[in-house]
Order: sequence, then structure tokens, then C-alpha cells
Amino acid sequence: MRRVVFEPVQIAEPEPPARLCNHPGCDGAGEYRAPRSRLELDNYLWFCLDHVRAYNAAWNYYAGMSEREIEADIRRDTVWQRPSWKLGQRHGPAYEARMRDHFGVYGENGGGGQRRHARSPGADASTRAASARDQALAVFDMEPPFTQTTLKARYKVLVKMHHPDAHGGDKAAEEKLKIINQAYTTLKASYFA
Ligand SMILES: [Zn+2]
Repeated sequence: MRRVVFEPVQIAEPEPPARLCNHPGCDGAGEYRAPRSRLELDNYLWFCLDHVRAYNAAWNYYAGMSEREIEADIRRDTVWQRPSWKLGQRHGPAYEARMRDHFGVYGENGGGGQRRHARSPGADASTRAASARDQALAVFDMEPPFTQTTLKARYKVLVKMHHPDAHGGDKAAEEKLKIINQAYTTLKASYFA
């Protein structure tokens, strides 16, 4: 009888997640990011889906702002809510989600259309409060850090893309151009003043 020698088989361990969820005691993968605070919008914590939802719902965008600052912020926000700026029409649902989702959860993971309906009402209220700067960043589809040169280059591309001349003098394009100009002013003032 032949003797069969079994070689020890190396069983592939499942790849450990690159990041762990920041929620204490959670072993989930940290696949969804959320800013640490309003003042650190580009400094992120990473969570699993359940915990980013919880964090999102508990997020208080206005923490640490004075009443006057909050009012000014809301007023700026109101200026942005122009009905003729049809979000997502040209950019697809992910773009629209990102406009209202400063956590970048839905746009980045491609969940797009469906997932954003799963959000809690509290989260909707807080995302409505996104600042003019965040909205300007969304209009430019940019995230800091960037240089003034990069910003200017992006501005030129957007102007070319949305110029009314390129749309047969279209009213909507005119409105978009206005919003792009406004966003450019906001971003210059926010980052390079
Ligand atoms: Zn978690």
C-alpha cells in the first residue's frame, strides 16, 4: 500500500480590514468616513455602516457656533437653494447625494440613489445645514487640500462646461454659471483669503 504524505496546507486567512470601525468595541471594517467636527471637515473618523449612520444621526454641525454664526450660515445656505439648479440632472444620482452628504458616505461607495433614502430624519436635518463652503466644494467636486492654481483650473473647466453660449443661451446654464461663480468666490475666500 502506498503511503500518502499530506503536506501541511496553508489555509488563507481572510484579509483583515484595512481600517477598523472607530466605534469603541466594534470589530467592523471602517469603510465609511465622517468628519471629526465642523472645523475638521477634512479630518475623518472611519466607521462601519451601522456606526456611521449612528454618528451621522448624532452629528451636530453647529456645535461650537454662536447663534449669530448659525443664523449667517443658514442665510448663506438659503441663497444656495435655487430650484433651477437641478442637482443630479447632468451628474447622476451620486452627485446629488454628495451635494447633501458631507460625510461622503453615499457618493463614494457608489450606493448612490437607493442608500440615501435609508437615512434617518435627523441626518437629513443636519445635512440641510451644510455650509456654503461645503456646497461650493460640492459644486466644484473638489476636496481640500488643493492649490489656488488647481482651483482656478477647475473653475475654468466648469465655466466652459456650463457656459450659456455652449447651451444655446439656455437659462438653466446661465443660472449654473452664476452658482459656479459664487462657489469660486466662496472657495477663494475660504482657502486663499
Ligand atoms: Zn462599527
